This record gives sequence, structure tokens and C-alpha cells, in this order.
Amino acid sequence: MVAIARSSAAASSSASRSASPTLRMGARGAAVTTLQNQLRAAGFNPGASDGVFGPKTLAAVQAFQRARGLQVDGIAGPKTRGALSSAGATPTLRNGARGAAVTTLQNKLKAAGFNPGAADGVFGPKTQSAVQSFQRARGLQVDGVVGPKTWQALNSAGVSGGSGPTLRNGARGEPVRALQQRLNQLGFSSGTADGVFGPKTLSAVKAFQQSRGLTADGIVGPKTWDKLGINVQGPVTNPGGGGGGRVVTGYVNGQPRRISLSPVPNGKEMRTDAAAAFNRMHAAARAQGITLKVNSGFRSMAEQEALYRAYKNGTGNLAAPPGYSNHQGGIAVDINTGGTGTSTYRWLANNARNFGFVRTVPSEPWHWEYRP
Ligand SMILES: [Zn+2]
Repeated sequence: MVAIARSSAAASSSASRSASPTLRMGARGAAVTTLQNQLRAAGFNPGASDGVFGPKTLAAVQAFQRARGLQVDGIAGPKTRGALSSAGATPTLRNGARGAAVTTLQNKLKAAGFNPGAADGVFGPKTQSAVQSFQRARGLQVDGVVGPKTWQALNSAGVSGGSGPTLRNGARGEPVRALQQRLNQLGFSSGTADGVFGPKTLSAVKAFQQSRGLTADGIVGPKTWDKLGINVQGPVTNPGGGGGGRVVTGYVNGQPRRISLSPVPNGKEMRTDAAAAFNRMHAAARAQGITLKVNSGFRSMAEQEALYRAYKNGTGNLAAPPGYSNHQGGIAVDINTGGTGTSTYRWLANNARNFGFVRTVPSEPWHWEYRP
């Protein structure tokens, strides 16, 4: 009896394993065809359903993973396949449809700010007009039919919690490509996802920012990433080889220097290369539940003079003489660590070096410098 129960459990678990094997580039067979069909049904194009896991299928898996906030490794393992199966719970719906999927649709429309009437599982005229309003707002075809694209837009509506490096017109790199794919998914056309931040991407970013109540400045900083709802990392080349930010006069060892500044969180700025590294670090910390709050980044001469006066008359922290603070060179950042006993400090102690940040002032656990 026990032996029978055990062997039937083993059989069913091996059956479910072989029904959803891990698939990667180069795989072939019926399971790949199933994967391709699921990707297509979820609104991602894997090319022909030919049972061959090639570059197009790889790109579709990656786009799906990115859209669902999964690790973007292009490998269809248990999590990705699970997410794809649940995407199968979103069949195409139109006026007259009934059932649990309609209730799900109605709840998602409500969450996105559109009124489908009661969530009663009946797709009637009110639900249809809510679908049409939603489609219009997202730049989708306004047919009142909920197919893969509309489901996808509904699933990503109201998503937040993303992060990434600050991107602006002229930037290039993998994070730009991820931004473009995301904007396209959300119904803001940024053209081909080629990794180059050009005029089309700029206007898509501005339209997205406007739709989410953000300042429509076309710069993808922490707030815009948050609303985009994806976590992106990777090197970015800014126009002019590391420049591209706001150019100001900074100071290094008392000497004036022209430096380019770019935004970091909390309304602060750092030298553009340091800002890119800091934003990568901020994203990595955030992915592990740690928020790096910036209390001070770049400081102008006037700001450093005020801090130095406060230090001298005993009302402020230790401050370097004007012209000699590394905050004036744009490479220093004060992070709200709350001392050395906090999870934030421990995270920095373990990880900051990987992003080029080190401590340089023994008495100041909050003060870190970009010295890659
Ligand atoms: Zn400092």
C-alpha cells in the first residue's frame, strides 16, 4: 500500500516535470512548440511554432521575462513556464463572454481606473465600453475585444517598483533597449528597440511620464523607472563619451574643473560616470529590499562654504574647506546609513566595492566615494 502510493507519487511528479521541462536556446521538440504557442498567446512573437528554440524564441522569452519581472536569462525554467501557463488563463474575451476570466478582466479594468460595472463575470455593454476606453488610453486598436495585447497592457497597468540607470536622449546600451521594449509593451511607441535613445524614444518617454503624472522632461530617472515597473541594469554610454549631463564648475583639490552631472535619487546629482554607477548600485540594493537614500551628492561652492562655516562655528558636521571636498568633484555621496549597525550599512559594506564605491572618511559611515 505504502509502496504503491510512493510509486504513483513518483510517477506523477516525473510526468509533470516532463510536461514542463527547462528549455533553452538550441532545444527542439514538442515542448518547444508548446512554449512558442504559449508565448504567442501571451502576446510575444517567438517566430514560427516549429519546435526549434532559436534566436526569435530566445528574444520572446526574454521579453516575456522582462514584462513579468522575472530574471531575464532567456531560459524557460519552472518560474517562466509557470508564468506562461498562468498567462493561458487570459483567453480572448468579447461582448457576451461569461465566466471567471471576465471577472478577472473586470477587476483589472477597475484597478486601472476604468469602470466596467459590477465584477459579475458577464461581459456586457459597460464592460465593453470600459475595454474600449482602456484601449484608447493605451494606444491599442479600439475594438472592445480583449486579446493578448490588451491583456498584456492590463497586466502591466498600475505596476510600479522598477529601477535602472538614468537615461536621456542620446544614451546607448542594453538598459535603453529594455526601456524601449517596455514602452512599446505599455502602448507608448518608441520605435525599434535598438538600444539607442533617439527622438522617438524621447517622445515616448515624455508621453509615458505625462500619463503617469510625472514631470514630462524625457529623462528616465528613478521616478520614471518606478512607474515603468521593471528592474534594469547594465552599462550605458551617454553622448559625448561619459558627458551628457548638466555641465558645471566643480572643484578637485582646490582647482576648478568643468564636470558633467547626472541625477541620482532624492533630487541630488553626481558626476555623470559616478551617477551611472550609483544608480546601478541603487537598483541592485533595491532588488534586495535596501533603499539607499541620498542625503548629499554634488555640492556647489556656495553649498560647501555654508557647510564649512557651520562646521567652524560648531553647528555642523566635519566639512572640508571650500574647494577641497570630494562632493565638489561630484564623486562623493552621503547615504543615509543610520550608523554601521544597520542592514543598509551592511549591504554597502558587502557590495559597494562591486560598483566602484568605497569609504574614505573613517568617522563618517555615510560618506562614500566613487573610486573604481
Ligand atoms: Zn560626505
